[in-house]
Amino acid sequence: MIPYGRQDITQADIDAVAAVLRSDFLTQGPAVPRFEAAVAAKVGVAHAVAVNSATSALHIACVALDLGPGDLLWTTPVTFVASANCALYCGADVDFVDIDPRTYNMSVARLEEKLIAAKTAGRLPKIVVPVHLCGQSCDMAAIGALAQKYGFKVIEDASHAIGGSYKGAPVGACQYSDITVFSFHPVKIITTAEGGMAMTRNAELANRMARLRSHGITRDPSEMTQAPDGPWYYQQTELGWNYRMTDLHAALGCSQLDRLETYVDRRHQIAARYNTALAGLALDVPWQQPDTRSALHLYVICLTDSTRHRAAFDGLRQRGIGVNLHYIPVHLQPHYRKRGFGPGDFPEAERYYSRAISIPMYPTMTDADQDEVVNIVREVV
Ligand SMILES: *Cc1c(COP(=O)(O)O)cnc(C)c1O
Repeated sequence: MIPYGRQDITQADIDAVAAVLRSDFLTQGPAVPRFEAAVAAKVGVAHAVAVNSATSALHIACVALDLGPGDLLWTTPVTFVASANCALYCGADVDFVDIDPRTYNMSVARLEEKLIAAKTAGRLPKIVVPVHLCGQSCDMAAIGALAQKYGFKVIEDASHAIGGSYKGAPVGACQYSDITVFSFHPVKIITTAEGGMAMTRNAELANRMARLRSHGITRDPSEMTQAPDGPWYYQQTELGWNYRMTDLHAALGCSQLDRLETYVDRRHQIAARYNTALAGLALDVPWQQPDTRSALHLYVICLTDSTRHRAAFDGLRQRGIGVNLHYIPVHLQPHYRKRGFGPGDFPEAERYYSRAISIPMYPTMTDADQDEVVNIVREVV
């Protein structure tokens, strides 16, 4: 089976992790701040907070932006459930904005319409979470302008998008957002096994997220309600969690980060070959917005004829191509149907779901593997 994605682990990665195993600190040591500084420098942002998953990063990002009961978070229906669940963790409500039929990202036109209606109804969102699907940035300048106009905060879910750029700036620079979140799960662009990171320009937000990932505890006297009792003293100033990344994971991340550009360049080569080889078939290849450079986490084809979708998907799997579908629209999940959502709510997202197939895309895929994928896609589609 040729998988739809897979990690690449080198001897350098193994050596980096082994070095931590032989060191004094398995966790809360120097590797985590080193990884944070390296990612922050790579994407050109002042602050980074490493955590044990992107899901945790989304959660503490919402808490740091004071999302709570009675508040509303909007995201796209075409994403992994975590982009929406972070609001529910905070006791807030979720709603969705339908996608753009070309990029499959949150539609800025639908967002603006929905904001106008929400303003009239007195129910504006506190946070909007655009998701850079497949690694292609959303139109952040437009979303940032709406954030200014309507007074909401922006968390970019860039789980797919480290190594990508928007209008010449790396994704993660937070030019038009409050916080950007990366995932380092093995299927993503670079991996720490499990892991995530929240990037921000705002020192206060970074500080608060750093406390929230470790129980809400501070050792900084300036953040305490009284002078320390002694050198052992710390204070828990609010409720946090244990969302810390370990030094083993961070060392793997540092080593992987060295190959970020190589990985993304290779993904672009693979995409260019697919674009050529699949031209003329009854499907859409991924459309790229001219002012973005995608990290190309996923290569999604959309069949012209949705009635052929299931047979094509099954046919590809039967012929040894490990295709997948990213994603089942979140509003159609039972947990969200219980909250009042259902079929027909977000027609473009549902139309995408009826046609989309993620075909293999990972940097170590050989040309021969790719030729096999292309031949089978041609036969099956
Ligand atoms: C993978 C992913 C997440 C969650 O990442 P974890 O690190 O596994 O918690 C969140 N959002 C999107 C869009 C993802 O693809």
